[in-house]
Amino acid sequence: MKVKEQLLTLKPYIPGKTTEEVKREYNLDKIVKLASNENPYGCSPKVLEAITTKIPSFSIYPDGAATELRVKVADYLGVDEDQLIFSSGLDELIQYLIRAMLSPNTNTVMAKETFPQYRHHAIIENAEIREVPLKDGKHDLEEMAKQIDGQTKIVWICNPNNPTGTYVNQLELEEFLSKVPSHVLVVLDEAYFEYATNNDYPKTIPLLNKFENLLIMRTFSKAFGLAGFRIGYGIGCPTLIKQLEVARLPFNTSSLAQTAAIAALEDNAFVEKTVALNKKELEKYYQFFDQLQISYYPSQGNFIFINIPGASSTEIFQRLLEKGWIVRAFPNGVRITVGKEEENEQLMKLLAEIATVKL
Ligand SMILES: *Cc1c(COP(=O)(O)O)cnc(C)c1O
Repeated sequence: MKVKEQLLTLKPYIPGKTTEEVKREYNLDKIVKLASNENPYGCSPKVLEAITTKIPSFSIYPDGAATELRVKVADYLGVDEDQLIFSSGLDELIQYLIRAMLSPNTNTVMAKETFPQYRHHAIIENAEIREVPLKDGKHDLEEMAKQIDGQTKIVWICNPNNPTGTYVNQLELEEFLSKVPSHVLVVLDEAYFEYATNNDYPKTIPLLNKFENLLIMRTFSKAFGLAGFRIGYGIGCPTLIKQLEVARLPFNTSSLAQTAAIAALEDNAFVEKTVALNKKELEKYYQFFDQLQISYYPSQGNFIFINIPGASSTEIFQRLLEKGWIVRAFPNGVRITVGKEEENEQLMKLLAEIATVKL
């Protein structure tokens, strides 16, 4: 037996240690996980109500077209129903896009420090990956445009970017889109769309009328708090969506996930509350970081990327882990999910200890 050569260079996704493992290893009572940008406030109570009152028949396949949800989302966004494709989280949509468009002798352009799944699946398809380092923590769109050639199929813009929380603004995005040739698909990963509150954060739905080679991705996993249900979607031009539908598995989103997503869309107040609290907590983090000279990127997401002078990211990660706090370490910094007020206050104390020891 032999799998494709390139699979041998990759590792399966490891979600990190379980909280039970960490508890045992360090003899702790409580673990706080601020590593996966999940919603610390859970999800709308309307979701629980919907999935317990509108129980689908579990022996029947789900509606593969997600008809009811499709109508809801189309209305919510003000787009046509045939502009939408649903997936088992954006992870799956990323896989569909790559499976549909990339092959050997094609290439794909992305930031070097961004969501790792774009790269992962491109490797599986044996496509060439052109990674462009971030510039001051932001997508270097000028350099990314230069990397595009006749064999380029997809350019990825993660906006706001995971792990840095930085963003490409309206003007920068439009300028970039007008430079990209029409044979290249630009995928805008807006997993954190709801959290982005700056005025110049792009309003991208209207851009779909102008740029047929644009695909926007949104998910219910983050601000809507439904990561466990696995449901997200793409918005694009009907021709592309129809072609992508061929790569979609017939029953890729479950009945319960569809029901949950519909209910979540009906509770704007929950998302607004989540976003407002996130912003308030982010501001407190900024103040704290400024005082301790911890460097960070202002974030448009529900996470923040930091560096403590003199401490490596693995050192910060390890010291927090020993106290029962799980964050995410990257080669050049640590990403912390913004938690609830009390969690953030406790974490700041621990970070202060690390920073002070080093100063
Ligand atoms: C979390 C995340 C996703 C994947 O989300 P799903 O749970 O698969 O919908 C995609 N892109 C970015 C940037 C993310 O942070």
